[in-house]
Amino acid sequence: MKEKWVQIWNQLRSLRIQIFAVMFLVGLVPVLLFSRIVIKSYNGQILSQKTDEVKSYGNVISNLILTSGYLSGKPSSDVEKEAEEVANVYQGRVIIVDQNLKIIKDTYDLEEGKTVISTEVVRSFVTPDAAYTNEIGDYIQLTVPIVASQSEKVSGVILISFSTKNLHLLEETINYRAVLMMLAMAVCILLVSAFYSALVSNPLQKVTESIDQVTMGQLDVSMELHTYSELVKISDSFNQMTGYIHEQDVARRDFVSNVSHELKTPLASMKVLSDSLLSQQGMPEELYREFLVDITQEIERMTQIINDLLSMVKLNKDTADMTVTNVSVNDLLEQLLKRLRPIAEKRNVELTLETFRPVVADIDEVKISIALNNLIENAIKYNYDNGWVRVTLNADHKFFYVKIQDSGVGIPEDVQDRIFDRFYRVDKARSRDTGGTGLGLALTRSAILLHRGSIKLYSKEKEGTTFTVRIPLIYVAAKEGAL
Ligand code: ADP
Repeated sequence: MKEKWVQIWNQLRSLRIQIFAVMFLVGLVPVLLFSRIVIKSYNGQILSQKTDEVKSYGNVISNLILTSGYLSGKPSSDVEKEAEEVANVYQGRVIIVDQNLKIIKDTYDLEEGKTVISTEVVRSFVTPDAAYTNEIGDYIQLTVPIVASQSEKVSGVILISFSTKNLHLLEETINYRAVLMMLAMAVCILLVSAFYSALVSNPLQKVTESIDQVTMGQLDVSMELHTYSELVKISDSFNQMTGYIHEQDVARRDFVSNVSHELKTPLASMKVLSDSLLSQQGMPEELYREFLVDITQEIERMTQIINDLLSMVKLNKDTADMTVTNVSVNDLLEQLLKRLRPIAEKRNVELTLETFRPVVADIDEVKISIALNNLIENAIKYNYDNGWVRVTLNADHKFFYVKIQDSGVGIPEDVQDRIFDRFYRVDKARSRDTGGTGLGLALTRSAILLHRGSIKLYSKEKEGTTFTVRIPLIYVAAKEGAL
């Protein structure tokens, strides 16, 4: 039972039903009220007009009575003629009563000579100004006092009753027509309300359908609503949203396929190596060793890729935990260089650090170490033998700047935009030899962006590369969802 009410309530909350109901009521109620009032006042007007008319005839008769001395018994054809005529025209009855309440003229010829005991007539003698009107069934009765102008004394009363049957018939006809007209208008308003409420709510139905489609995984849905500016905005935002989701979906698929591909390569090498070991019998031990060393290298490479992927997940803007501390960037760079110096020495690359001032900043030490380590390691890796790598540190009142310059192979201009993409490598073979996974710069950029910093690249092929990193000295946590 309760559920049924909830269902009914939910249906009533529908925009379509509400627009329909409001339009219908707003359209119909004034029409109903207005027509009622107009008809009523029109009928009242006609009735009072007729009463006034009859009253003025009553006055005419009253004047005739006064001038002819009809009340004192003198016969007057004028008075009688007029009385008969008024009675005829208005389908009524005229009774003339003298001072003694005796009926001296009745157009029905029924009551002459009798005494009137009607309170209205009696009252007319007492207060001549208050002409009395009374409606009895289809008749209206009114009293006209006969007042002599000199004495202002009521010397008799004319009692006129007239039929309102015709008026009532007219009223009924008008009412009937009004009801017909209102019904016609109600139907019109009903149709317009139904049409308009559907016009407003149908696009919203489309919005729901489109959202449902997206929920079910159909991402190529586009919404085209042109009816109202608000709906145009909704459909634009919706299309942007589906576009974004679609992009994310493509990126996710690309990423999964890249990861699979990257992991497949070392696995394939390992399979070839172990297959050849298995297929040949009685191989010398050194050869086994050599193959196993190769297999170990491939395992290391896979481990490196997986480690980088795990770091990337940690650096993901939605899940990253920032452990911000006050760190001396000078010390941090010195440590990094100390760790990397052996690699540089292997290729006789000169590695120098130049600091312009002591810099202390609020940073996540681990993340910034990963970022700078990648940049310096790349500068050594993608260098020529006997080359150089120069790291400089500077700061102003807001940011600190780390510049990593190298005399290496450089990055072709047309791929400089893609260098930060995951798994992107300029020279795949060379990068593989140096143990690169193509994830280093992607990690670097994520770490820098988490600090609300920026990274810029300047490079010329065969001449060298310069990366400039700018990081705020004070860490300001990004608002939720802002990154
Ligand atoms: P990798 O693990 O291959 O080093 P990165 O994301 O760190 O991956 O770098 C992507 C690619 O950018 C590298 O493969 C290399 O081709 C190029 N690259 C990065 N740093 C430099 C540099 N300092 N000089 C020249 N090329 C570079």
